[in-house]
Amino acid sequence: MNAVRVCLYCQHPNAVDGEQCERCSMALPACEASVQARKLKRFQWFCLGLTLFCIVMFFWLPRDFY
Ligand SMILES: [Zn+2]
Repeated sequence: MNAVRVCLYCQHPNAVDGEQCERCSMALPACEASVQARKLKRFQWFCLGLTLFCIVMFFWLPRDFY
């Protein structure tokens, strides 16, 4: 894995293993890839919950509705 984190202050690309910018030594933001992975995981759980909700409603609601 050779992703880089770009410094928000000087736009210098830093290696992932490092908490500070190599050039201006400001604190780096969280790794973008991990943030995106967390967002994707939350979205997957949301979809799973929505699917389960639909299945429950499908069996729970009366069928002779019309
Ligand atoms: Zn910097």
